[in-house]
Amino acid sequence: MKNDCIFCKIVKREIPAHKLHEDTETLAFLDINPVNIGHALVIPKKHFPNIYEIPEETLLHVIKTVKKISHAVKKGLKADGINVTMNNDPAAGQIVFHAHIHIIPRHINDGFSHWRGKRGYQEGEKEAVVQKITQAL
Ligand code: AMP
Ligand code: ZN
Repeated sequence: MKNDCIFCKIVKREIPAHKLHEDTETLAFLDINPVNIGHALVIPKKHFPNIYEIPEETLLHVIKTVKKISHAVKKGLKADGINVTMNNDPAAGQIVFHAHIHIIPRHINDGFSHWRGKRGYQEGEKEAVVQKITQAL
């Protein structure tokens, strides 16, 4: 647990949250500032800042809960679709540094569009990119 972490405080019941599900490893609750109504967050109860530091086993627990909540949000709110996302690092939009996965219900014509690609690859670029990533594996 981290004292100044808002999601650790939710786990410790020091601040309120609208809980959707809880088990020994994970907690799911409504996002306070929903993209669409029913936007939920799933967190590990233990504090890990991001995908890089969360142990695989904990992440497996989290993703199981994500699946459970995704089904319930889709069914319960009659969503047409669900976006499942995770922001890691400020450059990717992370503002709460306790690992979490967003479950965002989507509706046809809800006004959000998909990310647009900036540009295609240039000749030979894909091979270089594959090499950089696979060398880092
Ligand atoms: P991220 O940009 O992925 O770090 O997103 C953090 C999310 O946490 C945002 O969507 C916030 O609306 C949400 N959030 C921040 N504080 C709370 C809180 N006390 N209860 C529920 N959701 C929160
Ligand atoms: Zn935390």
